[in-house]
Amino acid sequence: MRVIDKLKSTKDTLFSFELLPPLKGKSIDSIYAGIDPLIEFKPAFINVTYHREEFIYKKREKGYLEKIAIKKRPGTVGICAAIKNRYNIETVPHLICGGFNKEETENALIDLNFLGIDNVLALRGDPIKTESHFVPEEGGHRYAVDLVKQVVDLNKGIYMDENIENATPTNFSIGVAGYPEKHFEAPNMTADIKRLKEKIDAGADYVVTQLFFDNEKFFKFVEDCRKAGIDVPIVPGLKPIESLRHISFLPKFFNIDLPPALTDELEKCSSNEEVREIGKEWAIAQSKELKAAGVPCIHYYTMGRSSSVKEIASKVF
Ligand code: FAD
Repeated sequence: MRVIDKLKSTKDTLFSFELLPPLKGKSIDSIYAGIDPLIEFKPAFINVTYHREEFIYKKREKGYLEKIAIKKRPGTVGICAAIKNRYNIETVPHLICGGFNKEETENALIDLNFLGIDNVLALRGDPIKTESHFVPEEGGHRYAVDLVKQVVDLNKGIYMDENIENATPTNFSIGVAGYPEKHFEAPNMTADIKRLKEKIDAGADYVVTQLFFDNEKFFKFVEDCRKAGIDVPIVPGLKPIESLRHISFLPKFFNIDLPPALTDELEKCSSNEEVREIGKEWAIAQSKELKAAGVPCIHYYTMGRSSSVKEIASKVF
């Protein structure tokens, strides 16, 4: 069953999580080792992130620098197919605009369709590290809404080549990203929600949010989305804080705030173990409140570590 069908038909709050492909050279066993402890909570679906190329400079003869593109975490599509095959669980590959032209996107969607993967999370992608702002690929999409439109076209059997006749339509369930604390480039929340509405109007089926630590911000976001006419399921994304480094890294990387009540507790910690304990308790409290509010699903960002999520899930699901 596709993700949107699960979200629409559930009476209880579903459990789902996100994984990162392993670093190039590592075995897929690390993925299975992250999934196995979470299977008992019956994940409704598993997302796999997409990581575009990065550029590095290698020193060559006579002081020349060679610019080399490398993908550190390839394998999103293969991992999705392998998980589906091994566990019979729906997988959701993240599909991004950055680094793809429209034909490459179409071919990626055809691969997914042939593999029996009927879900995508359609995203723009962040600017690459050496760029100050997002630059679309030549012949690629500038915004996630344009990617949504391409997937919707394929769902209608419309391919880029107009000469293709009687094409078999695909049946992708399409998720998109939403930001309870605003996307960092958006001028204000109202404008950001207007953009989100454009993605839904274009045919996206549901929203998964950026991670957040203050449920009030999520509830307000949902309220504002509903007022703006967004009536699709909105899935909250949660990430337990697990290390001292996270205290500054998460706000910086994800453009989110940590509530003062949480930082007051974190300030007392002197080890990762102490932080991990606080982070876990905070995520349990957040999850329980979201579940009581009747959210269709809670989506956990594991970032490759499932032990905290397992402990949280055991208290919530
Ligand atoms: P968009 O919806 O295109 O929005 C980007 C910005 O442009 C926003 O500020 C929006 O308000 C604005 N905007 C939209 N349309 C227009 C328009 N027509 N005119 C002017 N402004 C407009 N990144 C990855 O690289 N790989 C991943 O696997 C990945 N997974 C993610 C999963 C989730 C749940 C989330 C929340 C984010 C994820 N990201 C991932 C990060 C995401 O790619 C970045 O946040 C990116 O900067 C924005 O993506 P988007 O799909 O929200 O973009």
